[in-house]
Amino acid sequence: MTTANNQVTVMGAGLVGSLLSLYLAKNNYQVAVYERRNDLRQNYVEYGRSINLALSDRGWKALEGVGIAEEIRKVAIPMYGRMMHDVQGQLSYQPYGKENQAIYSVSRGGLNVALMNLVDQNPNIDLHFNQQCLHVDLVANELEMLNTVTQEKLKIPANRLFGTDGAYSMVRYALQKTERYEFSQTYLEYGYKELRIAPGENNQWMLEKNALHIWPRGSYMMIALPNLDGSFTCTLFFPYEGDVSFNSLQTEADILDFFKKIFPDALPLMPDLVSDFFENPTGSLVTIKCFPWSLEDKVVLLGDAAHAIVPFYGQGMNAGFEDCTELNQLLEQHSGDWQTIFKKFQELRKPNTDAMAELAVQNFIEMRDLVADPRFLLRKKIESK
Ligand code: FAD
Repeated sequence: MTTANNQVTVMGAGLVGSLLSLYLAKNNYQVAVYERRNDLRQNYVEYGRSINLALSDRGWKALEGVGIAEEIRKVAIPMYGRMMHDVQGQLSYQPYGKENQAIYSVSRGGLNVALMNLVDQNPNIDLHFNQQCLHVDLVANELEMLNTVTQEKLKIPANRLFGTDGAYSMVRYALQKTERYEFSQTYLEYGYKELRIAPGENNQWMLEKNALHIWPRGSYMMIALPNLDGSFTCTLFFPYEGDVSFNSLQTEADILDFFKKIFPDALPLMPDLVSDFFENPTGSLVTIKCFPWSLEDKVVLLGDAAHAIVPFYGQGMNAGFEDCTELNQLLEQHSGDWQTIFKKFQELRKPNTDAMAELAVQNFIEMRDLVADPRFLLRKKIESK
């Protein structure tokens, strides 16, 4: 039965919003989900985001809670360690943990589609595409929405609003205008560009399939994660400005000379390097912190809307998924007492996600630099015994 009390609204059907909707529906709430984009199952295009993601334990646990982990495991590629490539093309390997411990490479689109299919099948969830939130009125508990197809604007009530609308969240923007609101947004002086290592004959992987590949080069690096079709998605993390930077690579010859010198073993495996380099956008790397994440019993933020972090720890989505697991536990413990649920949720999660934000920035230094240092390799070898 639908009552005003069990109706909730989720803004944003990305990875976290889709998973959260499933958890809310499981707790017998009637969920209305609004998403700015069109249905990505019809025409999947992800602009400026990674094609694949590293999924780790905290992510798996959240997927298990809605019974989807086994389906995703079938299309996930375990990466048992990191494989370093030096400038001569020599390889060295560090396992991530004990035998059989791994993080998993999964397709961002595949994961989002699998979650969305479950959302669609759930009778407690109504999913609305092409609906962009323009404004959240925290006093009247009202949303101003734009239908991005018809350009029609509509005001809708929302008593219980979950903001899962990503790093540039409109829901958070409304909170930012409340008194003494804490907010910070910090960019690295680095951007990232996605490139591709092509599959070999018969869709064979041209590098070790079960590893996360790193080309550490001191002040910058390239990484690659395996895909199911035999390709690898590479990400070049590179300064925006300077002698060696996105700014310094302007022509086809600049790019090819640079890769020949710096990534010589990768270059022959990247037939579309030049077009990928020119055509793929350069993404920025932002850390967003804010507090509080909630207002009374009305609104709460989860995922990147509450805590966007740089990707070097591979934990942004995983942390957002963990938000869902933790919120679900609080829903079970304090059913219906929304103010307590929201308050406890932010108290529980904020210190963890702040720590992750710091670790993520530190891990950039480790990945681009220290992993190539023999003393670091020795320490890791001892630690993994
Ligand atoms: P989003 O994925 O941003 O989803 C937000 C949704 O809200 C979108 O569907 C959007 O269309 C919708 N929306 C936005 N505004 C509005 C509006 N006004 N009205 C309606 N809808 C709206 N994380 C990992 O765990 N592992 C990794 O390996 C990893 N690699 C990464 C690599 C890169 C290069 C980057 C940039 C990030 C990486 N991340 C990784 C982080 C991960 O991508 C994010 O943490 C994750 O996507 C956050 O999910 P979300 O649902 O909170 O936000």
